[in-house]
Amino acid sequence: MTASSSGKGNVCVCDVAARDGLQSEKRIWSVNERVELINRLANTGIQRIEAVSFVNPKRVPQMADAEKVMAQIERKADVRIAGLALNMKGVERALDAGVDEVRYVVVASETFNQKNQGASIAETMIGLESIAGRVKASGKVFSAVIGASFGCPFEGEVTTSAVVDIGIRLGALGVDEILLADTIGCAVPSQVRERVGALQSALGNSTAVGCHFHNTRNTGIANAVAAVESGVRILDASVGGIGGCPFAPRATGNISTEDLVYVLRNMGYETGIDLPQLIDVAAWVEGYFDDPLPGQVMKAGLFPDDVIARQAATSVQA
Ligand code: ZN
Repeated sequence: MTASSSGKGNVCVCDVAARDGLQSEKRIWSVNERVELINRLANTGIQRIEAVSFVNPKRVPQMADAEKVMAQIERKADVRIAGLALNMKGVERALDAGVDEVRYVVVASETFNQKNQGASIAETMIGLESIAGRVKASGKVFSAVIGASFGCPFEGEVTTSAVVDIGIRLGALGVDEILLADTIGCAVPSQVRERVGALQSALGNSTAVGCHFHNTRNTGIANAVAAVESGVRILDASVGGIGGCPFAPRATGNISTEDLVYVLRNMGYETGIDLPQLIDVAAWVEGYFDDPLPGQVMKAGLFPDDVIARQAATSVQA
């Protein structure tokens, strides 16, 4: 018997390692390495991958050559490939490169939005009207990430109403999905329940709500569980737990995809992911780093699977 047999439905897990994970790495991964990472993830049965970002390579050299990465990866009908954009130029590049989903970022605090997008929130929202129209006309999925949804490294507290206000405006633009991102990893589960609930009530059923958590203060998995139990069915994570945000001070630590999938699986949710294979990908990624990765399940192994396997090996020997 596996823990997944109780069947609580599907949770869409999006691995962001190839974008969020690598964009702040000191060693710049080659196009071939990035392509191999994405292909390995796609082979685990994962439903979504955030593969690239279409930003200025002078600003984020780790994300240069997004078009080359997109051209070389193996495409699978059941794996949605997302690309991040911060302006219309990036959106046009993403669509030309053949992404299935364009992800756009608005930050919930004014100072951080200025630093991240080089524009005020008001300017970003005005630009979004034509961008939303452009993406929707292309027939691709348009999702918006609200950065710093739970706190800002420059302004401190971010209110629920600030997040919900942006969410309502995004919903009115016809955005398909809205992701609340805890960019500096400061949220706790009670806040997740409150903020997700407020946004879901404001949006109704028209726009799906997802979450992107960082484990900076070791609350990431608890927050993911709170989100799922609040009805969220889209969660970001990064294989091995690599990554963070280069423009947010001390904001390291995406939650690790295999740790998230372990929790979801053992709680009875389906993700479509072959977890042992995903752990193999995490181990492969770790080979490119000097230090052990933050992921815990890749170190501890699966339960009960590994225990059962060890018992079987022992009984064969006996
Ligand atoms: Zn992140």
